[in-house]
Amino acid sequence: MIDASARDDLSKVLGERVQFDVPMSRHTSLRIGGPADAFATPADRSELRALLGVCRDRRLHLTVIGAGFNCLVTDQGIDGVVVTLRKFRGLEERSGPSIYAEAGVSHSAVTRLCVERGLSGMEFAAGIPGTVGGWIMMNAGIGVRELKDVTLEVGVVTPEAPEEVTLARSVLDFRYRELRGLPEHGVVVSARFSLEPSSRDQVKAEVNRLLAHRSSTQPLDVPSCGSVFRNPEGDFAGRLIEAAGLSGERIGGAEFSDVHANFIANVGGARAADVLALIECARTRVRDASGVELQTEVHVIGRSE
Ligand SMILES: Cc1cc2nc3c(=O)[nH]c(=O)nc-3n(C[C@H](O)[C@H](O)[C@H](O)COP(=O)(O)OP(=O)(O)OC[C@H]3O[C@@H](n4cnc5c(N)ncnc54)[C@H](O)[C@@H]3O)c2cc1C
Repeated sequence: MIDASARDDLSKVLGERVQFDVPMSRHTSLRIGGPADAFATPADRSELRALLGVCRDRRLHLTVIGAGFNCLVTDQGIDGVVVTLRKFRGLEERSGPSIYAEAGVSHSAVTRLCVERGLSGMEFAAGIPGTVGGWIMMNAGIGVRELKDVTLEVGVVTPEAPEEVTLARSVLDFRYRELRGLPEHGVVVSARFSLEPSSRDQVKAEVNRLLAHRSSTQPLDVPSCGSVFRNPEGDFAGRLIEAAGLSGERIGGAEFSDVHANFIANVGGARAADVLALIECARTRVRDASGVELQTEVHVIGRSE
């Protein structure tokens, strides 16, 4: 919980861009999650830095989220401050060709710019919902294509460094669906992506092909968080879940999709506890059926009691 004087400090720095006791169900694609003690939407880097300073001085726990497409927030909510960079919307073509995007830019805005300018290389990411910050932190991708393949550099703000630090691709430790090695408490504020000249029609055709494939293979009409489990080496979590007989399995309002078995959908009034119970059920059944230990891709965030 945040005491009254820490609340005052946060309000002094952010004004109405900080709110208290905000239900996280409003900020996650699963539409699930209890309240965050504070929810902050800084307008720019200087407000972000000031916010990080208050969190450090007041020892408030800080959680960064993008658009919440890969987050499961517990029913008990989140301690401390949740910050989102949704106001960081700078997006432009640069030399190379490349594009520079701030962390809050949406997947669809990046795709629109690439199509408009006929820039190729990021078509694979067109249907991966979220923000540039979330893409980078998750090393989001499909098949063998991942954000790491196009990332030139990442801008990071920390409570300690007065200036934004630019980290080149060579020092970024991208792994399967994660990025390691950022400075402690570092928040990604921007990224630059390397692209290739192409034509508007070609980029558009490839984007449309991938989006059509996605809508025929994923349940996009119900709230979900995408793939719940990482694919184990040489296999697919969805295949293992289906083989364990879990397609369509339901607990409370949460259900393993029968369109894509690695998706859990909120089919109505699901609680985080329902989703967590399904996750445990899949772990046990897949372990029993195939000996594979499934690891979650979705980030579970929040108080556990
Ligand atoms: C229908 C559907 C389909 C999907 N398909 C795919 C797919 O094909 N491939 C794929 O890889 N993923 C997929 N996902 C998952 C999701 O789209 C990606 O993980 C995406 O990168 C999440 O972006 P986000 O902005 O919503 O991040 P969030 O979910 O908000 O955050 C993800 C993680 O990044 C951290 N984070 C976010 N922003 C920042 C920042 N600025 N600085 C520091 N840390 C930050 C958060 O703390 C969290 O740990 C899918 C999800 C859905 C719902």
